[in-house]
Amino acid sequence: MANDHISEAISDLIRAQDADAAGILARESERQEHTLELIASENHASPAVMYAMGTCMTNKYAEGYPGRRYYGGCEFHDQAEELARDRAKKLFGCDFANVQPHSGAQANAALFLALLNPGDTFASLELSDGGHLSHGLKVNMSGKWFNPVHYPLIRDENSPAFETIDYEAVEAVCMEHKPKLLMCGYSAYPRVIDFERFRQIADKCGAILHADIAHIAGLIAAGEHPSPFPHCHVVTTTTHKTLRGPRGGLFLTNDEDLAKKFDRALFPGTQGGPLMHVVLSKAVAFGEALQPSFKHYQQQVKANARALAMALMDAGYRITSGGTDNHLMLVDLRTRDADLTGADAEKWLESAGIICNKNGIPQDPRPPMKTSGLRLGTPALTTRGFKEEQMTTVASFIDRVLESKGDESVAEQVRSEIRELCEKFPLPNAATATPA
Ligand SMILES: *Cc1c(COP(=O)(O)O)cnc(C)c1O
Repeated sequence: MANDHISEAISDLIRAQDADAAGILARESERQEHTLELIASENHASPAVMYAMGTCMTNKYAEGYPGRRYYGGCEFHDQAEELARDRAKKLFGCDFANVQPHSGAQANAALFLALLNPGDTFASLELSDGGHLSHGLKVNMSGKWFNPVHYPLIRDENSPAFETIDYEAVEAVCMEHKPKLLMCGYSAYPRVIDFERFRQIADKCGAILHADIAHIAGLIAAGEHPSPFPHCHVVTTTTHKTLRGPRGGLFLTNDEDLAKKFDRALFPGTQGGPLMHVVLSKAVAFGEALQPSFKHYQQQVKANARALAMALMDAGYRITSGGTDNHLMLVDLRTRDADLTGADAEKWLESAGIICNKNGIPQDPRPPMKTSGLRLGTPALTTRGFKEEQMTTVASFIDRVLESKGDESVAEQVRSEIRELCEKFPLPNAATATPA
């Protein structure tokens, strides 16, 4: 169990009533404590963020918005939502925030309902180039009921901008199809997004510009990635990735009319009662992100990503686009070993205590269940205190496991070294309320 007294008290309380559930919780806590979390979309929330969710705020129906609820008894829920909204607006420097989306995909679904009619055209990045499933996947509502057109990354290997956004293609696609909505912001893109350039294109083709900053919200909040404001008309994000809050979504804008449309599209359009325990936790997380220490954290996230990318390149792996500007990177495994797949690498690394996900690389010749790449991110390891030195060690762990092609004794040796390293960098606990 995590070495934190509140966790232990909670786990004892659950165990007294339900040993099965308590056992699962204990095993998951132990897994997080002693493995290396390199999934780019995950993080370790602080105890205050986690425990705000485990409260009586979950008991209340608060359908509607502050001051306009469909149920009585919402005085303190209004206060919680106002606090979360005010902090979100301050954090991102904008005029309107909706803190009720249950998740990033829910925020995007409400955005479609707010701005588009069935059959309307919108533009987004090719999903195989790093886009998100809620940006037009055929089986997703966005791809089934609307008409996605896609822009690519630069395909020319000789271009210095190889595998970065092809802004000329964005413009060409938009001028040809005249989308109502132009989406930027991705799930596996390691470079800076030029929101200003996107706005020029949106203005030229008459589209509303949307940034989905799910992955980079923490960097943006800390001023470590350019802000989507004032360029983007509407912004959606998750709150649990680099932003290090509870699992949830968030909508932001400077436009009052678009804010009203989104509010209605979220409730009653696509959601019922808000998760008020999560809204309270969002307020806590945004409060943490407003602290100076959060900027230092995000700077370290980026420095760690650069260090990990460099060490892997030194070991013979190609990093797509030649590196990273943010918290994540895509590793092309074929340059180290032509036969190595993302699926095998993910499985072998997990057996050694390194948790990451296989990911297609741009123009990947292999199918999505195999892939030629791994996506690695540094937000979670940075939260537990890792610096550049430890990232170099992590790169050597990864290379040893992949070099051995999943050999069990190598995996076991690496797993015990990782356990030792993790003991030196415990997860954020109650004694250090805000992780460094
Ligand atoms: C993670 C992600 C989402 C979805 O978030 P969920 O909370 O899992 O629904 C949406 N857009 C992008 C770009 C993402 O990376």
